[in-house]
Amino acid sequence: MIVLNADVRTVDSTQPRAEAFAVSAGKFTAIGSSAEIRALVSETTQIIDAAGVTIIPGLIDGHSHMISGASLATGVDLTDIADKQEWLSIISARAGALPRGAWILGGRWNHLLGDGVLPSKEMLDAVAPENPTLLTDIDGHSLWANSLAIRLAGITSGSRVPAGGEILVNKDTGAQTGIFLEGAARLFDGAPGLAAARDAVTGARAAVQMGNRLGLTGAHDMSGNMDAFLTVLREGNLTLRIWAGTFVTPTDDLAGQLDSMAVERERVRNIVAQDERVAAMGPLLEVGYVKMMIDGVFSTHTALMHAPYADRPTASPAPFISKDHLDHMVATVHDAGWPVAVHAIGDRGVSWVLDAFEASPRAADALMDRIEHVELVTAADIKRFGQLGIAASMQPHHATCCVGDYVIDRIGPERLDNAYAWRQMLDNGNHLVLGSDWSTSPFNPLIQMGDTLHRQTRMNGVVRPWDQGNTLTFDEALYGYTQAAADMTSWADEIGSISVGKWADFVILDQRITDSAGRSIADRTVTATYLAGQEIYHSK
Ligand SMILES: [Zn+2]
Repeated sequence: MIVLNADVRTVDSTQPRAEAFAVSAGKFTAIGSSAEIRALVSETTQIIDAAGVTIIPGLIDGHSHMISGASLATGVDLTDIADKQEWLSIISARAGALPRGAWILGGRWNHLLGDGVLPSKEMLDAVAPENPTLLTDIDGHSLWANSLAIRLAGITSGSRVPAGGEILVNKDTGAQTGIFLEGAARLFDGAPGLAAARDAVTGARAAVQMGNRLGLTGAHDMSGNMDAFLTVLREGNLTLRIWAGTFVTPTDDLAGQLDSMAVERERVRNIVAQDERVAAMGPLLEVGYVKMMIDGVFSTHTALMHAPYADRPTASPAPFISKDHLDHMVATVHDAGWPVAVHAIGDRGVSWVLDAFEASPRAADALMDRIEHVELVTAADIKRFGQLGIAASMQPHHATCCVGDYVIDRIGPERLDNAYAWRQMLDNGNHLVLGSDWSTSPFNPLIQMGDTLHRQTRMNGVVRPWDQGNTLTFDEALYGYTQAAADMTSWADEIGSISVGKWADFVILDQRITDSAGRSIADRTVTATYLAGQEIYHSK
């Protein structure tokens, strides 16, 4: 196959731009001008004329939760949509596409984006009367149900509400509104058909397809369910290369957890090795690293900070792991041969994790350790990332969406320069990996990359540009979503760029990306996605 007349962004510094390339046996075999590549045509060559649009390497999400996001892939995704009428038309369309009685799940609705009024079960009854519908809000604290879901779950005005939960009722009539808070959501757990609708394999398959639609050919999964991915692999539907992490807890038996992980990696490798498709498509699934968490998040004042929170100076969040124990855990994991990914959001959490990495250096040829989120970081620590060779794994939409709306309150203006410090990370020569943290923010990499170009928060109709000094260019964002992510894996020489000898993972966009594209990058769509030279998605 050859592709001609394209704006090819190779992400390969030896030849960053090209017009055309050739693919044979699943790999890139030549890259150059349209004339050079056309000269390679034989009778059997498939020719794609790109008509001038931009082609990029297959995108790799550096931080995602594929299975927990699955309900959005199989159900409805209302992320960032303010207008309730638009929610209802999306839900109506989903109901129309599903058989009668099939559950509609997903959600991520946020009534505060629009009129601030909670939605009602009657709204759902009007658009999805014959499909039980259960939609979680953006924080996962509220569930919005329709009448059919409530009836199937056997919930009545006399139902006992689990501790900590609440069923909202109309103050005048006493009737349930359809909103179930916190623990009250568990009342639905036994509803017929719900467990099957939440099935991990169905979800994994849908998440892979959704990723392909968005131009993703790879993802680092933070909370993997290997059985679900293996089932999808066996079906021949694993069209996304998954670099999976395993979460370990700070118990006494860390060694035991690591032993199980090694056994699991062997099991996965054996199954993958028996799969003929893998030989033809390159690496598809690997248990690659250990995941830990040192702190919480800004929203609940649970991220570990060097100085007090600006809006709640008395907050003193407890670390999820003590500093000494973190050092011990990192050293133990390194001894077992694994790289480590640690969730750290506050600047103090980041410092502690860097301390632990500094105390337990890895061999120069070992896979990089990484810190996830890094939402606030000191200037000194930005330097340490580079000195220690630690990757910063950051999710742009967290800055521009909800967090961006209150981060200034939490940390105050003085520390703002060091929040979501993508630009400083790159200026210091650090390894910056971009991702979504889906399903806490959109899976769409073009939205995430676009966010790095403008750094604007849009909440309640108000645009708040903040700290414009930390924006990236499109090419920098693209690197963070491709080769930088590949470099964190054992697949760095096999994927991540359009380079001769690599697997032919690439994405054809709907238009050419100009140097002044800016925010409009988020409006671009994917025309086709290829994995190892095979078309795995094409827009209708
Ligand atoms: Zn995450």
